[in-house]
Amino acid sequence: MLHAGGGPRWATYAGAVTIQLGLPRRRGGAGPVQLPEDRPAVTGLVDPRGRLATDLRVSLTDRCNLRCTYCMPPEGLDWLPSSRLLSDEEIVRLVTIAVERLGVTEVRFTGGEPLLRRGLEGIVAATAALRTAAGSAPEQSLTTNALGLARRAQGLADAGLARVNVSLDTLRPERFAAITHRDRLADVLAGLRAATDAGLGPVKINAVLLRGVNDDEAPDLLRWALREGYQLRFIEQMPLEPHGSWDRSSMIDAQEILASLLPHVDLVDAAPGSRGASPAEVWNASWDDAGTVRTGVVGIVASVTRPFCAACDRTRLTADGQVRDCLFATREHDLRALLRDGATDDQLADAWRSAMWGKLPGHGIDDPSFTRPQRPMSAIGG
Ligand code: SAM
Ligand code: SF4
Repeated sequence: MLHAGGGPRWATYAGAVTIQLGLPRRRGGAGPVQLPEDRPAVTGLVDPRGRLATDLRVSLTDRCNLRCTYCMPPEGLDWLPSSRLLSDEEIVRLVTIAVERLGVTEVRFTGGEPLLRRGLEGIVAATAALRTAAGSAPEQSLTTNALGLARRAQGLADAGLARVNVSLDTLRPERFAAITHRDRLADVLAGLRAATDAGLGPVKINAVLLRGVNDDEAPDLLRWALREGYQLRFIEQMPLEPHGSWDRSSMIDAQEILASLLPHVDLVDAAPGSRGASPAEVWNASWDDAGTVRTGVVGIVASVTRPFCAACDRTRLTADGQVRDCLFATREHDLRALLRDGATDDQLADAWRSAMWGKLPGHGIDDPSFTRPQRPMSAIGG
């Protein structure tokens, strides 16, 4: 990639390589963006393997009010300065480009903790007013720890939010405090009830199991979810934690999760061999709850042991305006610089297309040359 000086221009954020798109540049405005020559002239976010990214993950902040051990150190991280964060208007502009020009049909807001973003309801309302090529509003969802959701669930539903995923790894208050470094389990449960009441369903629960911490709790979590009508999804822990302590050999994998559930709950593969772009493998679950048969769905997101990269349809935007073509990407593409340099919507759309053309076939966790992204999960947007 070239800049005005004619040579490559790289910037780093916490060690991650940022590629400044837009070549060459003029003072007072962004120049034309050159699309890669071998890229076919299609409008969507296609990559060299023919995958089309239609699912946009937008991180609204890198900050959080919990400190889950697998995500953030107890003391927090060096938060992005507010000048580097996209404003609400900038986020809406980029989401509009994604939906109206680049074929995005689903938008998920995440973080850090997206409920910490005061303008969230306004961003959701503006997104709800957009129309995809098929003429419908994009489907909007939120991944959240649910702190404060009890107060905001109805307002978010009224603004156009369709669904929430709530992260909850344990039902035991002392374990919750140990995992998150905050004594807030009751607030999460209140947020979950409010989400159901507001119609933000099906409410999904994301749970990460940690060896020696909550790995004995899978059956309890599933029975509770079936009783409450939530869709539980276990997520394999990924090498995105802050201390580099992830160890594949001690990770609780899909096989182990399944084995721990089977003695307690009947499971039938819900869609054998047809996982598609869905990251979760899904089972229909049923359980005899003292004479009442509880039924529902449970999923396992085995990103490490059964990656779904071949069917990946995701593109990501960080809170500071960087496009990432993968959760594990080590390169980012700076849309914020272009945007603040006066780029037109066409230029921004081409820069996004160009960024996605660099998407690798897979995350490569199993490859000996695998390099972790420098940003932790909370700063990428999970
Ligand atoms: N704060 C919100 C929440 O917790 O739902 C949204 C952001 S959080 C980074 C999104 C999801 O990433 C959560 O479900 C969390 O459990 C998951 N996550 C964070 N770090 C992870 C890791 N190292 N491996 C697997 N999942 C992780
Ligand atoms: Fe915060 Fe979510 Fe990370 Fe937990 S997983 S520390 S709630 S961003």
